[in-house]
Amino acid sequence: MTERITRPYNFSAGPAAMPVEVLQQAAADMLNWQGSGMGVMEMSHRGKAFMSIIESAERDLRELLAVPPHFRILFMQGGGLAENAIVPLNLSRGGAVDFVITGSWSQKSAEEARKYANVHIAASNEGQAHTTLPAPATWRLSSDAQYVHLCSNETIHGVEFHALPDLNALGCQAPLVIDFSSHVASRPVDWSRVGLAFGGAQKNLGPAGLTLVVVREDLLGHALKACPTAFDYKTVADNASMFNTPPTYAIYVAGLTFQWLKRQTEGDLSGVAAMERRNIAKAALLYDFIDSSQLYLNTVDKACRSRMNIPFFLRDESRNEAFLAGAQAAGLLQLKGHKSLGGMRASIYNAMPLEGVQALVDHMRQFEKTQA
Ligand SMILES: *Cc1c(COP(=O)(O)O)cnc(C)c1O
Repeated sequence: MTERITRPYNFSAGPAAMPVEVLQQAAADMLNWQGSGMGVMEMSHRGKAFMSIIESAERDLRELLAVPPHFRILFMQGGGLAENAIVPLNLSRGGAVDFVITGSWSQKSAEEARKYANVHIAASNEGQAHTTLPAPATWRLSSDAQYVHLCSNETIHGVEFHALPDLNALGCQAPLVIDFSSHVASRPVDWSRVGLAFGGAQKNLGPAGLTLVVVREDLLGHALKACPTAFDYKTVADNASMFNTPPTYAIYVAGLTFQWLKRQTEGDLSGVAAMERRNIAKAALLYDFIDSSQLYLNTVDKACRSRMNIPFFLRDESRNEAFLAGAQAAGLLQLKGHKSLGGMRASIYNAMPLEGVQALVDHMRQFEKTQA
């Protein structure tokens, strides 16, 4: 029996709130994992106990995200930013690569890739202040691109691809690379449209320090000579993510999160499909309130608003500090917006219950009344 505890609602963009059951399980296992006499951080990564932990984590994740057999799941380190280099080191073959710019994260990815490849910007929403998504039919894809990169959920600007582009239908044979750091496991993934997906764990999967890579098998084995051995996807895959010591504790906690996700249901749905239904309801609650209010504003095109990261602004920005102080006092934490945009941002990942979003809306309504 786990004790029911109440905590403040934490809207951090990342590292972000974790399901309380996961934290309780990790706490219970801290000194003695399943009678082994050891905590998970104290175990050899090659011992039987940890091998069973990493194998279950990989199996559960494959089942949750319905990852097809011809994709490999890699547990790496370095975060999303390291992948901005590791992807071109492995996939670019030193040639041309296409980027779709939709916000700060795809921009950062393109800048880093320039060190290793010939970067071509196929489309950009910079002219619209990153508040819309350029329609795939308008993308100027290169005929010789080794891959096409996009960020499927822009954590700072709050724009999300609700469908991944079908590159084949656009006459492009290159694999699609997605940075899904901030919405992985919030919804199903259409793997038929993806060559490689990567994401840091600290938004929606577990602690910082673990990076998830899901890569189609035929994309392994093409790394540039300069690629560090530990970052060569083929080396990592051939060694079942054990070429060097993996982030063992982060993998274990992510594994607990995968088990938690498998237990989640919404009506007839379970797992990630259940999370999607719940996440749609959570996001609708907040966006509908913002759109109906006279005080708050979200400028993102309704067709591509993120379900995970919701930036919002007060029409009177001089009230930001008062809003945030009141939120903090009401047990609503880490709502300050990213420094590049200002204002507020509510990150409502899988671990945020509907009640947390309702508490935020209640606070926003209350605050609006005091501003009349
Ligand atoms: C947080 C984030 C990253 C950065 O990840 P690090 O682990 O800090 O390197 C990259 N991409 C997206 C979309 C993110 O949200």
